[in-house]
Amino acid sequence: MKKIAIYPGSFDPVTNGHLDIVERGLKIFDKIIVAILHNPGKKGLFTIAERVQMLESALKKFSNVEIDTFNGLTVEYAKKRKAQGILRGLRAMSDFEYEFQMALMNRKLNREVQTVFLMTGLRWIYTSSSIIKEAAQFGGNINGMVPPLVQQKIKKKFGKKSTLAKQKPT
Ligand code: ADP
Repeated sequence: MKKIAIYPGSFDPVTNGHLDIVERGLKIFDKIIVAILHNPGKKGLFTIAERVQMLESALKKFSNVEIDTFNGLTVEYAKKRKAQGILRGLRAMSDFEYEFQMALMNRKLNREVQTVFLMTGLRWIYTSSSIIKEAAQFGGNINGMVPPLVQQKIKKKFGKKSTLAKQKPT
């Protein structure tokens, strides 16, 4: 039987830290479905379509990786996709408490699906979508932290603002 994992998240936008988790997850699972949680109440920087496009571009070399979107419970989505695992990444202790709670809740909801955690690669320990957006907004250099298409798209979004941020305050 093929071992399938769901890798759920916001991916707003995808970072090299996410990609590292996918690449290493593929050593355990035969197929990974990167699933963007569509939460209509939470407006991100990028639309869902843009996030899909960036993930597809960054992961196109893997034939056993699929990009999808979902809403509702992750365990329900995992069941629908016949996945045995939920893949998550851990960076610092600060991730742990939330991830631990969520994994326990998901196990309560569906005992058939196992949450698998991978430790972040040391290089990506400080990389998160939100910190990258924050830095880019003020013209910070995010070289090497995100795939090329993401860098391009962030630049476009913040183009004007980052120029403003570089101007001296009056
Ligand atoms: P969320 O909005 O649920 O935090 P994200 O899209 O930010 O979702 O992240 C999805 C998953 O990827 C989470 O398990 C998160 O801990 C993990 N992740 C994010 N950035 C990194 C990183 N730099 N290294 C390892 N795992 C990461």
